[in-house]
Amino acid sequence: MKKAWLFLLNYKLFSLVMVAGLVALTLELSGARTASHGLLILVVISVTMPLVWSMWQDLRVGKYGIDILAVTSIVTAVILGEYWAALVVVLILTGGEVIENFAEHRARAELGALLSHAPKNAHVIRKGKPVNVKVGEIRVGEKVFIRAGEQVPVDAVILEGSANFDESFLTGESVPQPKEMGFELLSGSISLDGAVTAKAISTAENSHYQHIIKLVEGAAKSQAPFVRLADRLSLPFTFFAFAFASAVWLFTGDAERFLQVIIVATPCPLLLAAPIALVSGMSRASRYGIIVKTGSALERLAEAKTIAFDKTGTLTHGVLKVKSIKTYNGFKQDQILSIAGSLEQSSNHLIAKAIQHAAKDNGVKITKARHVQEMSGRGLKATLGGEEILVGNLKFLAAEDITIPSSHNPQNINNTAVYVAVGGKLAGIISLKDRVRPEAEETIGRLHRLGVKNALMVTGDNDATAQAIAKQLGLDQVHAEALPADKLCVIDSVKQRPVVFVGDGTNDAPVLTGADVGIAMGAHGSAAASESADLVIMTDSVSKVVGAYAIAKRTFQIAKQSIYIGIGLSVVLMTVFATGKFTPLTGALLQEVVDVVVVFNALRAHLITIGE
Ligand code: ADP
Ligand code: MG
Repeated sequence: MKKAWLFLLNYKLFSLVMVAGLVALTLELSGARTASHGLLILVVISVTMPLVWSMWQDLRVGKYGIDILAVTSIVTAVILGEYWAALVVVLILTGGEVIENFAEHRARAELGALLSHAPKNAHVIRKGKPVNVKVGEIRVGEKVFIRAGEQVPVDAVILEGSANFDESFLTGESVPQPKEMGFELLSGSISLDGAVTAKAISTAENSHYQHIIKLVEGAAKSQAPFVRLADRLSLPFTFFAFAFASAVWLFTGDAERFLQVIIVATPCPLLLAAPIALVSGMSRASRYGIIVKTGSALERLAEAKTIAFDKTGTLTHGVLKVKSIKTYNGFKQDQILSIAGSLEQSSNHLIAKAIQHAAKDNGVKITKARHVQEMSGRGLKATLGGEEILVGNLKFLAAEDITIPSSHNPQNINNTAVYVAVGGKLAGIISLKDRVRPEAEETIGRLHRLGVKNALMVTGDNDATAQAIAKQLGLDQVHAEALPADKLCVIDSVKQRPVVFVGDGTNDAPVLTGADVGIAMGAHGSAAASESADLVIMTDSVSKVVGAYAIAKRTFQIAKQSIYIGIGLSVVLMTVFATGKFTPLTGALLQEVVDVVVVFNALRAHLITIGE
């Protein structure tokens, strides 16, 4: 928009104006008034000229900004010989940018902290001996040794020992996490009280820590958001200020009155309040373990009417367990597990993990399937022992012309069910059980109380399972048996908007992008999910959605409040200054006070409390 001007407006310009002001003051005090005023005029004109120019360019294409008020004040002040008042307005304008930069710096401070706390050194065990290495040299599969007080260098799984780990820096979760053999450690977390030996499961480059750094980097880069409220108010406010000041001028016949009124009609609350509140709210969220990628996403979240959840891994733990296996056409349970396990080796789905586990626990051999194809939201297809195998949901098998015996009623299955077909015939049905997250019900309740009108669930799982969970959790609507593309259609057709989608990242990257706000959940969520999402929740807890919503709402309340306080104070001052009892210089200084009040109020978004 006003790129040239914005470019000029930085610290250097502000300092230059300050220094020039001080020189002019010295001149004025030593009696050299003409020189002082000459310098003031020079400074004021040279800073205002580019602004006038870009404003003129904007006006010609029918756009105009709020700084028209500031420019009018400056020009009028110079015409009327109120050079000092003009200088103060120029200072406010240049200073506004300083404040904005300051707010931006605060956002970047978090990134700085992350970067400076990044794991650097580690002890690995090579040839049976501990060696000190740089984290970058750790190879996947190597044994690393972490003592009490030390940082986990790369993502790893504990082989020996146990300790409490502080993950607060990564997830916002302040309670130390007890971990023992078999538990996963997040790079960057700190052992509080014990030594462990662990197997590296990532390199430093692909570690969880670097992943977070990338996310925060992206967030810090995002542009200052466009805030609609401020934009909507700027036109009426500018009109009002001009009308009021002109009326006073006409009524009193005194041009000085025009200046006195217009100079206290400060545009800064409209320019600064919202961006500052937003950056503060984003930084508050980050302390709570939520990375907000853009300010506009936070704005849409604040106004959300519908929140849609994915089921598996989001409302449920996503740690599935094979519960029972039904067999058909002469197959045995172990055979079913072996066939399904062989195909699921190639899948990352939570169902795949569960089936492989069950195969291992039952000592069933898994072989290598060929030509494995994964159909997202449906299942897998492959060849094994010369026969075509299908492993997936009922719809998928039906579409492949597999006949399901009439004795089987899908409505009676209220667990996740995986159907296995061999050579065109149904061979077995594996039922899997998942647990609903304990905090899910309360989360839905609290979202409703905070103003969400419509809480819904979209899932690829079967209808009966979905309905049972929806009832338990108090959801308003369910859409089951939805493919990833169907999920997107459901989100698109929602009437009460903006609509938020919360998913764990398995098969839902398109919906995360397509929803007005996409929230990816879980520290272990896939990289694709956190890339498509607007917000990333770093812990594996769905209740953080409430925190995110609360922070978003409160941030916008604070932004609005700051804007209204600023406008209110401006209007009061305009009325008082219409009496003509105060000089334009006093007006310019009071305007500065209003700006400071507004900025401090907006900064309160840093301190938002989240009721647990
Ligand atoms: P959700 O929406 O619950 O997260 P998905 O969209 O990931 O579920 O999957 C939907 C359904 O597709 C699953 O319930 C399952 O029946 C089937 N499915 C998807 N991937 C697989 C797989 N790898 N193995 C077996 N079934 C699968
Ligand atoms: Mg899922």
